[in-house]
Amino acid sequence: MHLFDGHNDLLYRMWQCGTDPAHDGAMARGLASVDGHLDLTRASAAGFTGGLFALFIPNSAAGEELSGGQPPSYEDASVICADMLALADEMVARFGDNIAKCLTVSDILAAQDASKIAMVLHIEGAEMISADCHEIEMLYQRGIRSLGPLWSRPNLFGEGVPLQFPGSPDQGDGLSDAGKRLVRTCNHYGIMLDLSHLNEKGFWDIAKLSDKPLVATHSNVHRLCPSPRNLTDRQLDAIAESGGIVGLCFATGYLRTDGEKNPDTSLALLVQHCDALIETLGEGGVALGSDFDGACIPNAIGDCTGMSALEHAFRQAGYDDALLHRLFSQNWLDMLTRQIG
Ligand code: ZN
Repeated sequence: MHLFDGHNDLLYRMWQCGTDPAHDGAMARGLASVDGHLDLTRASAAGFTGGLFALFIPNSAAGEELSGGQPPSYEDASVICADMLALADEMVARFGDNIAKCLTVSDILAAQDASKIAMVLHIEGAEMISADCHEIEMLYQRGIRSLGPLWSRPNLFGEGVPLQFPGSPDQGDGLSDAGKRLVRTCNHYGIMLDLSHLNEKGFWDIAKLSDKPLVATHSNVHRLCPSPRNLTDRQLDAIAESGGIVGLCFATGYLRTDGEKNPDTSLALLVQHCDALIETLGEGGVALGSDFDGACIPNAIGDCTGMSALEHAFRQAGYDDALLHRLFSQNWLDMLTRQIG
């Protein structure tokens, strides 16, 4: 089964390995790490044919737990973003037979035909963008095709949803004027907007403003796991009404009723969330948003090579070939066609 996935943090993990110019550091340690969930070798073996690759800027205080806290400064975020864009380009330059940076859905299909991983670049938290959004032009040229204005912390554009469990997504104010400008600018360029880390007021602001279907790249069902990162029934209804999509997230903290980051988590929970998403969004409105390299995921999956275990669990639950094909790749490709062309 081929997988096109809605969210991974491989670039962030590689960046954490160091960005020394000589850097076999980041490449070798990042890509060859046995600790991570994703690398080119395992991805190819597992049928991981592409996905949204996030550029995530950590909080400024080194070593701080990545939950809440102050966002990084514009200066720090700009440097780190440039580092990660360079890492993506270097990965393509060095491993061009295995991975391609994709700007359109035709690029994705061409990469997949050539057995290359299709990498679509995504920004998770727009701290490298200023209030007039002029950076978007450069970011678009460098390949950014998807953007979440906020991670789970406040910035210039609004307030991300906090991570504390349990909690409502309805915490904090909506988008600032700059946030609304960012939404219009992304619409203008054909950059997909990601709602996954937005608080509820910000979510409704985008629902009102954006002229595109609503997308949450890696979120689950609040009714089944009351994390503020998950979507309420009203939010799911709004996504359905817009013809949008939700990427089912493997993070155990957004699956379990106790919100624990516990790898000893049954795949039955993933099936339950997926069933609930399909119930509201239909078979065309659900895909996968693994959060590989960014979260604690069930041991039963382990890393990208464990996708077959999830496929098995879905088949046990009665999902047929056609539905699995939609969930594992087609729904993302259809949505990206509508979002980025
Ligand atoms: Zn995330």
